[in-house]
Amino acid sequence: MSDVKKVLIVGGGIGGLAAAIALQKKGIKAEIVELQKEWNVYGVGIILQSNALRAIDELGLTEEFLASGTTGSFLHIRDSQGNMIFEAPTPSSGKFNKTGGIPRRVLHQILYNAAIQLGTKIRMGTTVEVIKNIDNGVYVELTDGTSGTYDLLIGADGVKSKVRKLVFGDIEPVFVGQAVWRYSLNRPKEVENIIMFYGQKAKAGIIPMTKDSVYIFIVTAEPGNPRKPEDQLHILMREAFKEFGGLIAELSEQISDPKEVIYRPLETLLVENPWYRGRILLIGDSAHATVPHLAQGAAIAIEDGLVLGQLLQQDLPVEDILKKFMNRRFDRCKFVVENSNTLVKWELLQLEGKLPKGNEPNAIVAQSLMKMTEPI
Ligand SMILES: Cc1cc2nc3c(=O)[nH]c(=O)nc-3n(C[C@H](O)[C@H](O)[C@H](O)COP(=O)(O)OP(=O)(O)OC[C@H]3O[C@@H](n4cnc5c(N)ncnc54)[C@H](O)[C@@H]3O)c2cc1C
Repeated sequence: MSDVKKVLIVGGGIGGLAAAIALQKKGIKAEIVELQKEWNVYGVGIILQSNALRAIDELGLTEEFLASGTTGSFLHIRDSQGNMIFEAPTPSSGKFNKTGGIPRRVLHQILYNAAIQLGTKIRMGTTVEVIKNIDNGVYVELTDGTSGTYDLLIGADGVKSKVRKLVFGDIEPVFVGQAVWRYSLNRPKEVENIIMFYGQKAKAGIIPMTKDSVYIFIVTAEPGNPRKPEDQLHILMREAFKEFGGLIAELSEQISDPKEVIYRPLETLLVENPWYRGRILLIGDSAHATVPHLAQGAAIAIEDGLVLGQLLQQDLPVEDILKKFMNRRFDRCKFVVENSNTLVKWELLQLEGKLPKGNEPNAIVAQSLMKMTEPI
């Protein structure tokens, strides 16, 4: 066992909570500081690929996931009018051969409940003001006026990470030229699996979240990242579906409440290896924020916490453990970020009719998801 007995995690999102669970399970005391005063996880759902389901299982939360989420065994690819192009079985990660879907708020609640049950202390409305590596530890001053020392500090504070800014300097996410629009709806009976629709101008999809609900999404090119008027989001989202027919078009007609439209310009970021300085480590989106084209961001954030929990069991100096962490995490996360960015590039070229023949986005998706089934 390493000398890491007490850890401060900055950020109580998917990555931070998963890390807290993984560490507490190994007997390491985890404390979380979370910037928000109250949880404010946005509506709509999240896709959990089979490696994410495997990671959730390792956290001991499969039963909780299955009680609220939903799973499917195939990915259906259709054209803009809903005609089937092909269907493929979802790749298996060990015994996990399905893709999951769950509302984000529910996933967060499951992770939160587990972290609390295991004894994680969470301080809301609090963040770090000062972070300093000291001999065999990290000294922190927090915005609630307290200070303390920890054996390790984990920055899990998302794509706009303050820990990254304080410790690694100015490394900013980059807007990729696309945005995604999402909206939750009742689940039509015929939707059993994830369905993707490829149009000339946009890619859209239906994602099952629970047995009764889905969310629909559409990815659009947004050169210059224009601001969208919040009270018009429902109209603009409906308009984005103009070229589509069939089921997805019918569903898009139900988009009626601008407040329920979740519009996100897409950003990417990959911090160079290593993601640590002394005893301060970045995980999740603070180190590797990916566009959602492979639906892997949450999966790799959860995996970070699991791998760290395993490695901290080893009787090694912290520096060696963090080096091993990078060996197990960097290439895998880089692969997700880079292949996702390739998909963005190809989709934008396709839009202009400039995508060279032979560059097949679906092939990258299939190869990438297969690769992600490899053990971590
Ligand atoms: C449009 C979109 C769709 C996506 N869909 C999928 C999908 O289907 N499947 C998938 O696997 N991934 C998906 N992702 C990626 C996934 O959402 C992220 O990778 C994942 O949420 C990362 O978790 P995290 O804990 O690192 O960051 P976050 O979930 O962003 O959590 C960060 C936490 O830190 C808190 N925080 C922020 N600043 C501070 C601070 N200074 N101090 C303390 N706390 C702070 C935040 O309030 C938050 O609670 C998607 C991403 C986008 C943008």
